[in-house]
Amino acid sequence: MKIIDFHTHTFPDRLAPGAIASLEKSSGTRAALNGTVGALLESMKNSGVCTSVLMPIAVKPGNSKTINNCAIENDKISGLVSFGSVHPLDENYISELERIKKAGLKGIKLHPDFQSVFIDDDETVAVMRAAADMGLLITIHSGMDVSYPKLHRSTPKRLASVLPKLKGARIICAHSGGYRYNDDVLEYLVGHEEIYIDTSYSLNQPQMDTDKLIRIYKEMDPSHILFGTDSPWEDQKKSAQGIMSLPLSDGLKEKIMHENAEKLLCSTV
Ligand SMILES: [Zn+2]
Repeated sequence: MKIIDFHTHTFPDRLAPGAIASLEKSSGTRAALNGTVGALLESMKNSGVCTSVLMPIAVKPGNSKTINNCAIENDKISGLVSFGSVHPLDENYISELERIKKAGLKGIKLHPDFQSVFIDDDETVAVMRAAADMGLLITIHSGMDVSYPKLHRSTPKRLASVLPKLKGARIICAHSGGYRYNDDVLEYLVGHEEIYIDTSYSLNQPQMDTDKLIRIYKEMDPSHILFGTDSPWEDQKKSAQGIMSLPLSDGLKEKIMHENAEKLLCSTV
């Protein structure tokens, strides 16, 4: 089956060793790859992934420009598609979103725990509203982040509270809607037309319940679920095998593994 991985990360070669080491330390986990573009392309070959979507994060307000320059370059590499990122407290966020749009990137990634904002802060909502108005997709980290187990700045409930302000947006909530928040995903997110989920960092994770994940995948709009791995934090091959082994229909698996991603990546205006 064709596979598109809608949630991956890489770092510039010279920064990758330090970035991976510090994230391994803060999260207490081990990366499956060394964090470089080369390693991701190699992993794709070994696991049958034809396209990986990169999700960079502007962790500081002044960082957006550099991050997006790199994203625009990565987006040109065969097999890779890159989102951009803006920091919600970057006062130039509109012009940066316009630059992302003009460069042909399909969306942005926000990560409130790394960006020191809440998903329901006015500034974060303003960025999501502007991105949606430009036809950009929005991937957000959702639920707990293993590097910051105490923060929880981007929960399903917080996001649900601002959804009325985000009509027409397409928001992809990572980690099956929320890491460690299976019940809240079912209660607050499933059924909203603005909400999509990716399957990254979900299966076989100690803080996630497989039966509830299956329920989420069955109750979500079938066209709103995207395969993702959070590579290098999950192994692409094992991750794809995990989703393929779930008791879901073949038709749904086709949608999750590539059809939904193809539609989203082509339909951004
Ligand atoms: Zn991620």
